[in-house]
Amino acid sequence: MAFSPEERQRYARHLDLPGFGGRAQEKLRAGRVLVVGCGGLGSPALYYLAAAGVGRLGLIDSDQVDISNLQRQILHGTADIGRPKTDSAVARLRTLNPHVSLTPHTERLCEANAHDLFAPYDIILDASDNYPTKYLINDSCIVMKKPFVHAGISAFGGQLLTVVPGQSACLRCIVPTPPPEAPATHGPLGPVPGVIGSLQAIEAIKFLTGVGTLLRDTLLTYDALASAFTPVPAHRNPACPACGTGTHPQD
Ligand SMILES: [Zn+2]
Repeated sequence: MAFSPEERQRYARHLDLPGFGGRAQEKLRAGRVLVVGCGGLGSPALYYLAAAGVGRLGLIDSDQVDISNLQRQILHGTADIGRPKTDSAVARLRTLNPHVSLTPHTERLCEANAHDLFAPYDIILDASDNYPTKYLINDSCIVMKKPFVHAGISAFGGQLLTVVPGQSACLRCIVPTPPPEAPATHGPLGPVPGVIGSLQAIEAIKFLTGVGTLLRDTLLTYDALASAFTPVPAHRNPACPACGTGTHPQD
């Protein structure tokens, strides 16, 4: 289906972009992305994916907007305090781009609902803030052979990894046990999840369009205080409890 005159104006900077253009924009419009979490990571990821013209966005979050969220969760405003984050996010994203189909899920991701929630989407973004949810996303995506983009943040930094099940290292291959949780009251510095969430949006756009190279088998870490991005090679672990082949390295 051809783009309308309004869409051609809206996406003009993509349509004119060498190596991207109308073909990639059409793939974005046909794309379906699920974002788990509408907070610090999910805000910029959803914002850019909606702005870019991804055809369908799913949002999962069971929380309500708190005033302490507003320092970094840029989808929400002062008037949204007390409102479900999915409602606030959908309202904001609709004003940004009415062409995007938005499906809010105001519930907590759990083992019982993960399969049904993930099934309709091409790729999942982990914009959650805790390791039990990150492992649940990882393990569900491995079983479903569903690509996903892992992200995590700390007080002054973050990390990113795109996982293509069966082809590249998963979260459990490189982080087999949960790291100690930073107390929720210690950060993060507001723009840090903005940086990492924006990178998640870029990974999703690259996946949907086939443009560029995915961040596979590489954990990209970001240190805001040192202004340093460091790619750390990641390898599949044959003994990985999630994606392992069952053959131990010593076999
Ligand atoms: Zn693995």
